[in-house]
Parts: sequence; C-alpha cells; structure tokens
Amino acid sequence: MNRPIVIIGSGHGGYTLARAYRKLNRTRPVVVVTADDGADYPKPQLSHAFGNGASAERLIRQTASEVAAETSIMVLPHTRVQRIDFDKQLVELGNRTLRYGELVLAVGARPFVPPMTGDAADTVLTLNSLDDYRQFQTRLANANDVLVIGGGLIGTEIAHDIARHKRVTLVDVNARVLSKQAPPVISARLQAALGDVDFRFGNRVTAIDQDGDRLRATLADGDTLTVDAVVCATGLKPRLDLAKGLDTATGIVVDAGLRTSREHVYALGDCAEIDGRVLPYLQPITLSANALAQTLAGTPTAVAFGPMPVAVKTPRYPVQLGGITGGEIDWQIDEDDNGLTARAMRDGQLVGYATGGGHNGFRLLPQLAR
Ligand SMILES: Cc1cc2nc3c(=O)[nH]c(=O)nc-3n(C[C@H](O)[C@H](O)[C@H](O)COP(=O)(O)OP(=O)(O)OC[C@H]3O[C@@H](n4cnc5c(N)ncnc54)[C@H](O)[C@@H]3O)c2cc1C
Repeated sequence: MNRPIVIIGSGHGGYTLARAYRKLNRTRPVVVVTADDGADYPKPQLSHAFGNGASAERLIRQTASEVAAETSIMVLPHTRVQRIDFDKQLVELGNRTLRYGELVLAVGARPFVPPMTGDAADTVLTLNSLDDYRQFQTRLANANDVLVIGGGLIGTEIAHDIARHKRVTLVDVNARVLSKQAPPVISARLQAALGDVDFRFGNRVTAIDQDGDRLRATLADGDTLTVDAVVCATGLKPRLDLAKGLDTATGIVVDAGLRTSREHVYALGDCAEIDGRVLPYLQPITLSANALAQTLAGTPTAVAFGPMPVAVKTPRYPVQLGGITGGEIDWQIDEDDNGLTARAMRDGQLVGYATGGGHNGFRLLPQLAR
C-alpha cells in the first residue's frame, strides 16, 4: 500500500520539500496539513512590509489551493494536528486521523516573549506569521509611538521599518544592536543611521499596563514609556508540542539525513536541530528540503551546510554577515568613505565577516575557513 507522505506545516520548510519531492516523484500522494490558511508567502518580507504599506494579501505568492493545483499535492488548511501516534503511524486531526507512510515535521517555531507583568502584557505583538502581520498592521495603523523590544536581527529590521512612519523606542538588555552577530563598530554605524530611534540599552521591559487608550511600559530601571503599541522580537523557540516521543533538545533532534529518533519521521526548518544547531534561515531550510526530497524519493542524502550569508534588511545602513560572527573573535576592520569591512579572525584564520554601508561581504564567503 502506498501510504502518503504527510508534511505538517506550510512554511518555507513544508512547501519547499513538497515542491522538490514532486519533481522527483509525480505519483505518490503528498498531504500538507497546516494550522494556518496555507498561503505561500516570503516570511523575510514581514520585517520590511509595514514601511512599504504592503497588505498581508499583497505578500501572498500563492493560495493553498494554487499550491495544491500546481504541485498535485493535497493541502489541508486550517487543520491543526493535535497528536501523533508514532507506533500506529497516525496523525490525529481532532475529529479524524490520517495515516502516513513517511511523516515530516515542518512546524516552525513560536516567538519567545520574556515574562512581563501588567494588565496589558497580553497586547504585545510578535511577527512570525502572516496572521501576526495582519494584527501588527492593524494595531500600528493609528499608532504614533511604538516600542520594539529586542535589538537582534529581526528587532533591528522591524525598528528600522516602523521608524519610516512612527516614533520608535527600542529596548534591549545588551549594550547595542546586533550584539551577538556583529562587531561594535557595525552596531555603532547602524545606530547612527537610525538616529531617530530612541535606543534604551542595558534595560528591559518589566510591565505593560493600559493607560487610557495608550500603553505604559515600565523598564527595569524604573523609567516608564507611554506608547501606542509594543512589538516583541526577542527570539524564537522551536515548536516541540508534537514531538512527544521523539528526541528533543532545543529543537527536534535530527541527523544529517533529517531523520528523527523514530523510523519514518523527519523534521526540518525552524523546529529542527542538526548537530546541536537550530538554523532558522531560508538557505539551510532549502538545502534540508532538497536533501530530504532525495531521501524520500529513494536516494538517501545527507545535508551539508557551508558558511551562510545573511543580509540585514536595514537599507539606511545595509549590513551583511557571513560565517562565524559571534563569540570570541579578533576583528580586523577596514573602513573608507563607502563603508566598512570587518574580518572575523580566530587562530589567524578568516572564519566570518561583517560588512556595512556600501561594502559587499559576499566576495569573502569562499575564503572562509571550514
Ligand atoms: C520577520 C522575519 C524576518 C526574517 N528574515 C529572514 C531573512 O532575511 N533571511 C532568512 O534567511 N531568513 C529570515 N527569516 C527566517 C525564515 O523566514 C524562517 O527561518 C523560515 O521561514 C521558517 O520556515 P519554517 O517552514 O521552518 O517555519 P514556519 O514558516 O513557521 O512554518 C510553520 C508551519 O507549521 C504550521 N504548524 C505549526 N504547528 C502546527 C500544528 N500543530 N498542526 C498543523 N500545522 C502546524 C504553521 O501553521 C506553519 O504553516 C525571517 C523570519 C522572520 C520572522
């Protein structure tokens, strides 16, 4: 019996796998089960869509039924998987079950919001799905003052984007933006380019309370800010709720073949952990999906990741990162009128780079030590 391949999740992981597999096998049934509406959209655009005035609908590349028709797969939108019976190879969908031959968890991650007290703590916005973006756009439409919590990659991009139209305050526990990804000089140049953003470093938000029709945020140092909306970008946590019975650590543990600890069950994307690392970026997910498609089509294939380039979407001061740019690093800085190149050195070897302004780091990628 040719039981279907069941993929849970219609994000970049789930759909890239479904498309790649369909190119290799035209006939085996593939079912994508997804809790959301199954629309295919470029998630990285969420952090710079507001500034452009783009609606969620404008970001959609294909609806669920268009993806299904194009790839001859079945998509079950608005269908949340409740539980998986790995022994019987059954996915439980509430009022019915689905049998699988092979199962792929591509369930992504959920935003991590640090604990905050206050009667409006639950109004904090996050930005990790098209539905999040719909809410974000509605709530920010009439806002004048917006508080962004978190100055990592996504928080900085969001602050940059919102600051095109609103007053923005950014609070971060660290001493600068991109503190874990880039050298201090890059952070300094980026912050200078974002001169209209009020940065509150070395601080955190402890409470959000309603204050008339506005919000009052209390900071750890006792200061308060009155704003109209609060957006939190303090990281993601892989979704593990369906992984009971599988080996998990930070994410669902998989080997280089994307295999979990149970036979016939695989995982990829923001929910998966390979070699102790969760890599929540499009490129490693695409590489994982292509390798897994080969495996599912009968050619066992391991995924290999080279050094990865990341472009920080801050057009006022564009930043590019590649390889290892966090932790103990000896930075070699070259700066001219056009921009800045920071080479990340460890034991005399080039292990990563960060560039800012008009400098292009991509050319350094092939030179990185592996
Ligand atoms: C604002 C933002 C900007 C980004 N910018 C970049 C960038 O510039 N470059 C880059 O490389 N990466 C970027 N990323 C990261 C990249 O977009 C993600 O790594 C990638 O999209 C994750 O895809 P995924 O399929 O693993 O997860 P998701 O897209 O989160 O998909 C998970 C899917 O699982 C479904 N699901 C979850 N639980 C269930 C359940 N129980 N039952 C059924 N379905 C379920 C959800 O409905 C969803 O369809 C950005 C991310 C964000 C949030």
